[in-house]
Amino acid sequence: MHPSKAHALTQCNMCCCCREVETVFHEFGHALQHMMTKQAEGLVAGIRGVEWDAVELPSQFMENWCYNRATLNTFARHYETNEPLPEELYKKLVAARTFR
Ligand SMILES: [Zn+2]
Repeated sequence: MHPSKAHALTQCNMCCCCREVETVFHEFGHALQHMMTKQAEGLVAGIRGVEWDAVELPSQFMENWCYNRATLNTFARHYETNEPLPEELYKKLVAARTFR
């Protein structure tokens, strides 16, 4: 991770790091892929038999929801005041994600 990006992320002052939230969404994408498989043959259920680049598609798609403002408003709140993530921090979060 680029040092500037890491610095921007630490400025969020969140109880749960942005990266950790992104990981939860990522892993939930994998979980969905497993749970939505209805297959009598275990060897081809879930992610079995799926190419590895394709295995990551649902999980990486789910990561995008971490940066969706409406989605963030449902859970990204101050731990004491319950205020939603301020717009300024939201913009920094999105900018840090795409920083090159
Ligand atoms: Zn993955």
